[in-house]
Amino acid sequence: MANLNLAIKENRPLSRAEVTEKYPDIPPLVILKADVQRRGVHYSEAALGALDLELHATTGTHIFGARDGKIAARPESLLLRDGSSIITTPTPLELDPYLVDLHEGRPFLFEDGEPVEEVDYWPRPDFYDKTSSSGTLMQNVVSARPQRLNIFPYRYCTFWNNGNGCSFCDIVTQMKKGKEELGIPARLDPLEVKEVVWEALLEPGRYAALFLTAGSNVAGKRAFDEEVDYYIEILQRVGELFSVPKIPSQLIGTAFDDGQLERLYRETPLTSYTADIEVLGEELFNRHCPGKAEWIGYKEWKRRLVRAVDIFGPGRVNTGLVAGVELTSPGGYKNEDEALARTLEEAEDLASQGVSTVYIVWSPRPGTAIGDQKNASLEYYARLAAGLHGLRGKYRLPIGFDDYRRCGNHPDSDLSRLHNF
Ligand code: SF4
Repeated sequence: MANLNLAIKENRPLSRAEVTEKYPDIPPLVILKADVQRRGVHYSEAALGALDLELHATTGTHIFGARDGKIAARPESLLLRDGSSIITTPTPLELDPYLVDLHEGRPFLFEDGEPVEEVDYWPRPDFYDKTSSSGTLMQNVVSARPQRLNIFPYRYCTFWNNGNGCSFCDIVTQMKKGKEELGIPARLDPLEVKEVVWEALLEPGRYAALFLTAGSNVAGKRAFDEEVDYYIEILQRVGELFSVPKIPSQLIGTAFDDGQLERLYRETPLTSYTADIEVLGEELFNRHCPGKAEWIGYKEWKRRLVRAVDIFGPGRVNTGLVAGVELTSPGGYKNEDEALARTLEEAEDLASQGVSTVYIVWSPRPGTAIGDQKNASLEYYARLAAGLHGLRGKYRLPIGFDDYRRCGNHPDSDLSRLHNF
């Protein structure tokens, strides 16, 4: 307690140990996970030597890049002892990341030279090394988290056509790297996706859900019609593998209009829908997401989320934040207390209408407009997790489709493991 009191008196950011002590209702592993996401990781040579390419998943078909800007054979990410995931990216040593190194022959997270927690690498899916009928390596068509299949149907976003991409986004750089360095198709063939999902499902008992996301595509008779048409085609092809009309699945797409949302629900096996607003507060949204602001607008984005609840049902719609960008300059909140209060106020407005809010820890990436700024303190991420989880409790919003098992990228929805609603 002495250190915690001292930290508060000195008005400095709390260390991980101090945050853990101050917030006993948040499990220490959730706090550790948020900190590892916040600071990133660096793999030692020994840790990389323990990577077994036959047993472990290596960096896959991401649409966003790593913090050190490289694509290389490194562990896809980490598993904690409680079976939850840490989704984090390799980070240059000068940014003070956690070190992954061996301790008594096993991978551990190290902080300040001390081993703090045992970790494991993600298991390699059985289908990764097979090739599809077109000769493409299957891991370049569909990728996997420990319990979820990921489909990234294409790797561009038309908001970048006039330079209005989001301030934290590196999708274009990553698309070029993926194409040149990994041979990933820029656009997937829905029949090939079906073929690979079939192969993936032969691994017994592994996957709990299917997930799709891509960048926004304004093309079509009504804006985003082509994006919706393409998702529908992929979901329908995959749906043919199942004997039931609906399968556990999540789409992160643009905020679609009422007709597009109805088509997505009615014509596909999709069960849950996410449209990431990225940052709460209209001025910040306009600043950080100019393409979303240009084509849809903040108030309309929120309205469409609420409308989606009527279609998909309560507890099946959410929106994601890139938490930390709200504190960047210019234009950000003056301090973390204000950022937290304003963000939770807006999240409550959504929760009261049936829409959950989850966050990812913002990872400043090279080449992005705000990539040279720092993300928030660990205490901010702990308080935000508790606050968003608390809103789900208050408004009885289950988050099973985006929890520690299916997604694993949200410290706030990890808390649903303790109290689901
Ligand atoms: S919507 Fe924003 S974050 Fe998403 S791909 Fe487009 S520019 Fe990037």
